[in-house]
Amino acid sequence: MAKSTVIGILSGKGGVGKTTITANLGAALARDFGKKALVIDSNIKTSHLGLHFGVYDEFPVTLRDVLDRKVPPMYAIYTHPASGLRMLPAPMKYDSVLRSIDAVVGQLRRSYDPIIVDCAPGLGSDAVIAAKAIDKAIIVTTPDLPAFTDALKTIDLVKRLRKDVLGIVMNRVRGERYELTTEEIEQTSGHGVIAVIPETTRIPESIAAGSPIVISSNSGAAAEFKKLAAAIAGERYVPDGIFGRLADFFNFNFSTFEGAKVGRGMNGFVREAVADADMPREEPRREMQTIKPQINRTGAAWKGARGEEAEAEIDAVEELRRELPAAAKPGNMGPYKGFARARAGKDAEQEILRKVKARLRAKLGR
Ligand code: ADP
Ligand code: MG
Repeated sequence: MAKSTVIGILSGKGGVGKTTITANLGAALARDFGKKALVIDSNIKTSHLGLHFGVYDEFPVTLRDVLDRKVPPMYAIYTHPASGLRMLPAPMKYDSVLRSIDAVVGQLRRSYDPIIVDCAPGLGSDAVIAAKAIDKAIIVTTPDLPAFTDALKTIDLVKRLRKDVLGIVMNRVRGERYELTTEEIEQTSGHGVIAVIPETTRIPESIAAGSPIVISSNSGAAAEFKKLAAAIAGERYVPDGIFGRLADFFNFNFSTFEGAKVGRGMNGFVREAVADADMPREEPRREMQTIKPQINRTGAAWKGARGEEAEAEIDAVEELRRELPAAAKPGNMGPYKGFARARAGKDAEQEILRKVKARLRAKLGR
């Protein structure tokens, strides 16, 4: 069987559109390109992926239960009824420690392709742990300096982990003069821009409605998501005709806001393993007995409670972090300070930033 591809959706800065892109790319791959696509919410501290699909209650079983070995990964997978997309959700309640997801992703590779991982923003341990489990990264940025300079750091991180950068998605593009252009982003990062998603009210509308824009709309942003999905699926993108777009113009608000009204509980999501007769049903119960006394602990207790295996995992992450640039270590997460200090003099990064700033100044005539 061909090896499936695991694509991470990453950004340096938060709030640039990772979860929106994960939801729409996943839904388009499943719905429009017939892929057995899976999205994984690795954003265990601030999970939002379920909300994009109208799920406002806790899923009965989540990534937390999988990481705690209470259930095999298949038990935490749900199918989205309107698109056929599979999702492995994170818990909605506060959750602090993300352990390695390598093994979980490895197991799921057998059944799903592609797998898209919605990652935590920044260069902290949750982002590193998620990035470790992927094959290729899509870097998300908005066309402004704060987001883009952070995107450059993320690219750096991805390369140090020896993962491929599939390309950059520019999101929330308005086409204003003060925005960074595609060329500026490509030239300074050395990576191609693989999608340009316009700023549109339809995106917050679709989130409020609990239905990704690719399902309910043929608008420009939806078309861009579908184009990107086509490229990932290795298929040709056939744009929706004028009738589709007209229908969209008249229907959008009705269809999506109906979704919002019915969006209660699991919003029609169906659990994968319930229907799967092959799952070892005894195993999770046994595991639960052994693991249960160890859950819900924090900090040092967490490490102690899990014994050697957990310590080995923590050590592995620590080791990895030592190899990373100083910027990726805790304590150095302050805006640019630690980064600049750690890299000053010896790195192309400063040079890149100078170039971006010079270009921007030239463009604005200052
Ligand atoms: P991230 O996952 O990177 O933190 P999100 O996908 O949650 O970012 O997006 C953050 C916010 O930005 C969302 O509330 C969403 O409504 C808004 N947003 C994202 N993309 C667009 C866009 N293209 N146009 C308008 N608003 C957008
Ligand atoms: Mg997010």
